[in-house]
Amino acid sequence: MPTDGAGRLALRDPGTVDAAAPRRFLGVIDDVPYFTATVDPDHEDTWQTLREFGGAADDVHAALVTSAIALEQWHQRHTHCPLCGAPTGESQAGWTRTCTVDGSQHFPRTDPAVIMIVHDGGDRTLLGRGHQWNAGRFSTLAGFVEPGESLEAAVAREVFEEVGVGVTDVEYVASQPWPFPASLMVGFTARLDGDPSLSLDPVEMAEAAWFTRAEVAAARAWTDGTGPEPDARLHGISPHLSISRYLIDRWLDDAR
Ligand SMILES: [Zn+2]
Repeated sequence: MPTDGAGRLALRDPGTVDAAAPRRFLGVIDDVPYFTATVDPDHEDTWQTLREFGGAADDVHAALVTSAIALEQWHQRHTHCPLCGAPTGESQAGWTRTCTVDGSQHFPRTDPAVIMIVHDGGDRTLLGRGHQWNAGRFSTLAGFVEPGESLEAAVAREVFEEVGVGVTDVEYVASQPWPFPASLMVGFTARLDGDPSLSLDPVEMAEAAWFTRAEVAAARAWTDGTGPEPDARLHGISPHLSISRYLIDRWLDDAR
């Protein structure tokens, strides 16, 4: 996306963008309507990914760009009707696609996923490493909600499937849109219930372990560049901006 390099999108006047390209309505802020537009990538703006932009973005511009990306990803993936296979076209200012043959309407979708920090009620938390992460880098567990499942049940199921332990006291904390392509990450805490021994799903998890607050705090300091690389199994955790990091910080700073 084009930005000013300092946390705000490079907004354009409507007269300066391609009139033939689709414009999707994002909302009105202080009497100003905002739309998405496709712009020339050779323009002299600073171009940033959402991860790059997100670190400095103000709340309004972060919300605008998250909605714009989610909408664009949906349009790119829903060019044809799921009922009859005919092409669909944009309608409702970009918030609906309508089948050109049967007239059925299709709406942007959001796929809920749960992400949870599991703790033992004392000084330890359970972190895992997926195969896509480098050795030493751990995160909270997460997974998609299945059809017909409550969020709380999804937390318990995913923890049991990935590492083989039971949890209780599943409590909602916060959520984060993750439009790659259409996720909503719903964050929870959960407490160990029963035997803490781990039994890993080797497909999902490269490793997982219980770590103390001191171990996680050392990994946080190294991740943030404020401490030395830990001489331990756990080196790094999720960076700022992710709900995983928010959950870890919240547990770490909880003085209970
Ligand atoms: Zn159709």
